[in-house]
Amino acid sequence: MEAYTPGEQPTERKYIKLNTNESPYPPSDGVIKAVNSTEVSLLNLYPDPVCKKLKNKLAKLYGVNEENVFVSNGSDDILNFSFMAFCNADTHPVKFPEISYGFYKVYAELYGVKAMIMPLNKDFTVNVEDYLGNNANVVIANPNAPTGIALTVEEIEKIVKANPDYVVLIDEAYVDFGAESCLPLIKKYDNLLVVRTFSKSRSMAGARLGFAFGSEELIRDLEKIKFSTNPYNINRLTLVAGEAAIDEDGYYTENCKAVANTREYTQNELKKLGFECTESKANFIFAKSDKIGGEELYLALKENGILVRHFSAPSICEYNRITVGTKEEMDALITAISSIIKEKNNENI
Ligand code: PMP
Repeated sequence: MEAYTPGEQPTERKYIKLNTNESPYPPSDGVIKAVNSTEVSLLNLYPDPVCKKLKNKLAKLYGVNEENVFVSNGSDDILNFSFMAFCNADTHPVKFPEISYGFYKVYAELYGVKAMIMPLNKDFTVNVEDYLGNNANVVIANPNAPTGIALTVEEIEKIVKANPDYVVLIDEAYVDFGAESCLPLIKKYDNLLVVRTFSKSRSMAGARLGFAFGSEELIRDLEKIKFSTNPYNINRLTLVAGEAAIDEDGYYTENCKAVANTREYTQNELKKLGFECTESKANFIFAKSDKIGGEELYLALKENGILVRHFSAPSICEYNRITVGTKEEMDALITAISSIIKEKNNENI
């Protein structure tokens, strides 16, 4: 089987790191304080496997009951548990878009589950009609990755409604940067699982913390999988960090706004250089230029100390996915791209 290839996490050299969609902003003060607190001296004790306090805070913030909340070691863990819980080789295959988060295909293969992989439309939008009445579970990242394009809540509701006997998992890893969450729909549909993460909008990729919302029945199934594999899968420091992050939600909301503004600014600058960008609602830009190939630009930027993410699938190999960093980082990116293209033009004269 083919394992997932994570984005590069270089240790040998310092890059402007725009390749794995992390937040350019540090965790909030309360998170740093919580991790440095007496909690460290309690590391001899196991953490709370039920994660009661964190679930309570999430339930309050998002207006749901604790029984509708699941937390785990990053949203990858929740995706993994969902494939384990809801898919099987005989009756429950899984349907997802061809261009999307690479892990969906890996989990399907790992669990021997048939993957029904649907192409995107020419403009990279998800074709909603493909997901109506499937006889399969559905997994869709919204906004999608690496395109950043989002479906509307109405479109998602259509999919959820059309598959009452199957689970529809909406992966909202990037929803906080400008798309609309379908969370309110969990009150209406018991087959919808909404998966979120602290890794992007809450500056905690290194802490590994994901959460999900769904009907009591779906959440109970996920708990059963967690308690059948690794009940202590969120460590003490991550738990207190997550709790503190919820207490300081305003800080993260402001950061998301800043990222969205920087995204628009950078896209405009890229367009001035002749780039074409998808309509991203995420904390990354998906861009291509007819002046330079996708891989060539990725390699040239790397040489210049800037890491972006390039995918070799033929339909997207001319693009690069560029995480939105600080304004200063994006100015450095634009300067670098501009001189790379100039140099290439000079070579061609
Ligand atoms: N879903 C999507 C669409 C992602 O891009 C990522 C990040 N690679 C994840 C889920 C997993 O994020 P994490 O495990 O850090 O929560």
